Amino acid sequence: MIIKRNLNRFLLILIFCLLISLEAADLLLPNLFHSIKITSYVTIAIYTAAIWFLFLLTKEFYQKTKELQKSQQRMKNIFDTLDVAIWSHDLKNDTLLITPGIEKLYGYKLENFYENNNLWKEVIYPEDLYVLEEREQKIAIGENVTSQYRIIRPDGEVRWIQDSGIPTFDSKGDFVDFSSVLFDITDRKESEGLYQSLVEMSPDIIAVVYDGKIEYINEAGFKLIGAESQEQVIGQSAKNFVSSQITDLIKTKVFSTAKVENERYNFEFQVRRIDGVNIDVEMAARSILYEGRFAVQVVGRDITQRKKSEQTIKFMAYYDTLTGLPNRNQFKNHLNDVLRQQENKMHAVLFLDLDRFKIINDTKGHSVGDHVLQRVAGRLQEAVQNEGLVSRQGGDEFIIVLEDVNKDTTSRVANRILNEFSYPIEVGNDEFYVTPSIGVSLYPSDGGDEETLIKNADTAMYQAKERGKNNYQFYSIFSGGISTWKMKLENWLRRAMEQNQIMLYYQPQFDLVTGKIVGVEALIRWNHPEYGYIAPSEFIPLAEETGLIVPLGKWILREACERRKAWKDAGFSDFPIAVNVSVRQFQDEQFIQYIADMLKEVELESNDLELEITESLMQNLENSTIILNQLKSLGVLLSVDDFGTGYSSLSYLKHLPIDKIKIDKSFVDDIINHSNQGMMVKTIIDMGVNLKFTVIAEGIETEEQVKFLTRNACQIGQGYYYSKPLSAEKMEKFLLKEKGKTQL
Ligand code: C2E
Ligand code: MG
Ligand code: MG
Repeated sequence: MIIKRNLNRFLLILIFCLLISLEAADLLLPNLFHSIKITSYVTIAIYTAAIWFLFLLTKEFYQKTKELQKSQQRMKNIFDTLDVAIWSHDLKNDTLLITPGIEKLYGYKLENFYENNNLWKEVIYPEDLYVLEEREQKIAIGENVTSQYRIIRPDGEVRWIQDSGIPTFDSKGDFVDFSSVLFDITDRKESEGLYQSLVEMSPDIIAVVYDGKIEYINEAGFKLIGAESQEQVIGQSAKNFVSSQITDLIKTKVFSTAKVENERYNFEFQVRRIDGVNIDVEMAARSILYEGRFAVQVVGRDITQRKKSEQTIKFMAYYDTLTGLPNRNQFKNHLNDVLRQQENKMHAVLFLDLDRFKIINDTKGHSVGDHVLQRVAGRLQEAVQNEGLVSRQGGDEFIIVLEDVNKDTTSRVANRILNEFSYPIEVGNDEFYVTPSIGVSLYPSDGGDEETLIKNADTAMYQAKERGKNNYQFYSIFSGGISTWKMKLENWLRRAMEQNQIMLYYQPQFDLVTGKIVGVEALIRWNHPEYGYIAPSEFIPLAEETGLIVPLGKWILREACERRKAWKDAGFSDFPIAVNVSVRQFQDEQFIQYIADMLKEVELESNDLELEITESLMQNLENSTIILNQLKSLGVLLSVDDFGTGYSSLSYLKHLPIDKIKIDKSFVDDIINHSNQGMMVKTIIDMGVNLKFTVIAEGIETEEQVKFLTRNACQIGQGYYYSKPLSAEKMEKFLLKEKGKTQL
């Protein structure tokens, strides 16, 4: 080809020289032209052309050589700057060419390799020498071979080399040339190693899934699944551990065409372990190129514990841990939802407090108390079923909300609740008769919001307590609450005192053994001209709240003492008159002075007056001790009313100057209501007698109760069985009659 091209060039030059020399001869020496033979012109032209041609060839050769040198230099520069070395061995002529890059790779001088052709082998890291054998085997059969091995440089540094060798054989099959390209791959190897150990040692699960099969999984991953080794998991379908909905979802998301490159998707799902246990995991998934194919890479962790604690926290925020019932928070949310979503319907809030639960806690301990509360929760749910939501507010208080009800359906549920408590709660070998007092407020009549409804149901609950416990009461305006009514009532009360609508009734107290009257309790009555008889439980709390109890209480004390004085003068001498005193009255600084002055004015002996205080006074023990001691020094008698329903415990009453304790009617009721009856009464009597208190039982209605009480050493009793509270006139007659009896 080259020859053909150069021949063509030569012929062209020749023709050109010929034509020029002919033309030049003709122009310059026309005569001569004819005299010289044409062959001579041809010869001249041939020489000229030959010289020219040679000149051109030389010039071209020179240029080419220069270009070659230049590009060789460029190549050399490139190879010298790269961490690459080329080793080329012409076996036929036994010439070896090594590029200087080898110095950078191996740290030895180029000459060292020429001097010792085996130097490259000698510096291989001993553990990697095995690759040589493999290499030689491949080369021997004419295969290209790429090996990776470590070398030790003269300064002791270890580097990774990738060595790609290409053997060349001639047509006869003789090994004629061997070339090899050597790279320093230390950085790549190090980062590969780093990533590999990161993946392997990661406490997070790392796995690669291709075509639904697990292609790779790290140690954390296979352990999470419950496998003992990678091999146990690799190759398995991901669906063996994760539901197909999840695997499909991950696949669709990760490979969606609209996806942003390298976008990561987060999932939370359950993994089924080999042992069948489900665990919660959170995973991030994305597509990666794995061994040349697009696969799904997942990275995640076990969040079972976190989920559990989240659930516990959530549970604790909205549920009562003891009973499992919704707590105050959830109740509030629920009630607010009901009021918002069904604002045109009637709803009921039932505030429930257990009667005398404190006694169980005090006498049997908190763990028994807790068991009782759990049973109570169960019974409430049983009674309410799916007609409402039962919640525990704390202590022995529960609130129930009934949706879309009327007064009748509410009463029905309240009765069902009371029924649930008609049989004892058994804890271990003990049986407890726990009863509830329930206050009911209705939406919208008793309040338009959660707060008012609860407050009014609470007020109504106190009314239920006042009315002998174990019953339910609907909220009424007299229960307190609405301020305008309070003001009205307050005015009424003031007027009532002026207009003698208020009077005292008297209920006698008896020695249970001798049947002799040993005391009389003064009880207030209000006969309203418009509304008729208003029970003290309806207006006393209001009078206490407004402070009106202070003047009212003074009036009661004076009235009772005057009455007592009159009876004394009439010859009924042996008993004190008991007057109920509210806590609020004790807060009046002049209270003690008032009693002292009043007794003087009325000319009544101080021990003819007995003050009935409630256990709530004990809440401020320090203060009440001072006041009670002052009263005691006046000489008045002191008794604790409704004992067992409030805060006091017998043990600290003994430090106070108390003469009597009045066992609350609800305990006395227990004597006949239930089979293990009277356990509480018996306990209170025993402890009271031991502590040298006079024990009096209130609300006695049957002979059976009297017998039980006398059998158990209770000295005094009061109740309908003997006499209802009577007007002053009737009481006087009663006293006369009784006096006659005892004189007989
Ligand atoms: P309390 O002091 O515990 O009075 C006993 C209540 O039980 C009285 O109700 C009485 O009528 C009633 N009762 C007595 N025996 C029986 C019985 O056998 N069966 C039944 N079912 N009930 C019986 P009342 O008079 O309605 O008084 C209720 C509460 O109002 C009193 O409870 C007391 O806490 C308060 N109270 C009454 N009068 C006064 C007063 O003058 N001043 C103050 N501060 N509070 C008073
Ligand atoms: Mg009383
Ligand atoms: Mg009482």
